[in-house]
Amino acid sequence: MLGMEILGRPKGHLAQWLVLTGAFVFGLAAPAAAQPRPPEPARQASVLFENVRIFDGKAAVLSAPSHVLVRGNAIARISTAPIDVAAETGVQILPGNGRVLMPGLIDVHWHAMMIRPTPAMLLSSGIGYSTLLAGVEATATLMRGFTTIRDLGGPSFDLKRAIDEGLLPGPRIYPSGAVITITSGHGDFRQLTDLPRTIGGMLARVEKLGGSMIADSPDEVRMRTREQLMQGASQIKLTAGGGVASPFSPLDVSTFTEAELRAAVEAAENWGTYVCTHAYTSAAIQRSIAAGVKCIEHGHLMDEATARLMAEKGIWLSTQPFLDLSPASGLGPAERAKLAKVVTGTDAVYALAKKYRLKTAFGTDVLFSQQLAERQGAMLASLARWYTPAEALIMATSTNAELLTLSGLRNPYPGRLGIVEEGALADLLLVDGNPLENLDLVADPGRSFLVIMKDGRVYKNTLPQ
Ligand SMILES: [Zn+2]
Repeated sequence: MLGMEILGRPKGHLAQWLVLTGAFVFGLAAPAAAQPRPPEPARQASVLFENVRIFDGKAAVLSAPSHVLVRGNAIARISTAPIDVAAETGVQILPGNGRVLMPGLIDVHWHAMMIRPTPAMLLSSGIGYSTLLAGVEATATLMRGFTTIRDLGGPSFDLKRAIDEGLLPGPRIYPSGAVITITSGHGDFRQLTDLPRTIGGMLARVEKLGGSMIADSPDEVRMRTREQLMQGASQIKLTAGGGVASPFSPLDVSTFTEAELRAAVEAAENWGTYVCTHAYTSAAIQRSIAAGVKCIEHGHLMDEATARLMAEKGIWLSTQPFLDLSPASGLGPAERAKLAKVVTGTDAVYALAKKYRLKTAFGTDVLFSQQLAERQGAMLASLARWYTPAEALIMATSTNAELLTLSGLRNPYPGRLGIVEEGALADLLLVDGNPLENLDLVADPGRSFLVIMKDGRVYKNTLPQ
């Protein structure tokens, strides 16, 4: 997770921010079902997209001119013949005029709570402000056409709840809750003056947030894993190796023992879901796989043998196109050097992904920068360095959606995502232009996406009236 890495010299900053947000997460102990829920906003009647050419998220071609009827939160009908809704009242008709209708985009490595605030802002503001910032960013994320994100670290449970209840516009969120790490591992942002920790003593400040939890035995890992599941985590995230900005974890180190990783895997699998690990190196990846981890985050420094192993075992590679040092503006020289090393691995990881036909998912891992977040679509477009536009778009829609299904019964949004077909959830973008010919359209969502629909609701419509 580059996210935490972007912090740079983060020891004080992150810890203090975590304090602000931590109490919030841990205060919400009651099951959601027992809490009073505000009424859902009234859902509009059916929506009919007329005369669109469909990129369905799977095939590298557009459909013939078609009509797509959305009822409730799902796609009810797709037809090349006109769909007659004259007998129905209140159907919203959106004339596509031959434009492209495609699935909403999915980012499987996001940190919804850690985008807008800078460390300095976190230092000087309260928890309410931080949460509101995350809400504003969630709306911006949706307005970039990302209708679903998998959150890989941070206390996003309440944000998810508010979005799902219709309190504010935002993407679907698959939350991990706190990242689980070891003492000195990636995600342990304590200072040396915080050591030694008394066994059974008070939590570190970073832990009170729910941003990360430090666990040093299989038993501790099991407990922290189960705490995230209790709060509604749809998958569990551990850091299996060093990270760029972690002050005390060099990139090359492997952190958890296999037994510790296995404890998390068992707890997650008992709960019907899976574990993903932050891992750049071959050693960290191989140990993760041996312990039963299903998805590797990053992988930029892995070798051929490890890629072959991932292919043989059907392990997911969730990686990111890190192409420059722009996220490193606040980093010290040691951390900058680590980021540079990761960036030099980017071409290699995509080459291995292609050579061994790995199940490869797309994510951005943006952190602590609204400016970088605005490049979310541009990062997707940058996949053109290795993939055709169709391959990149398939990755960011149906392939990413396939990864999300690993959450099994912990999937917070049962139903098909990332595709345009009858019965699928209605997360749709109407594009002004053909993204299969011009992938850069996704880098300019304000102009390119004329309609943004999530869960059957229209959140943006700038079609000419
Ligand atoms: Zn991350």
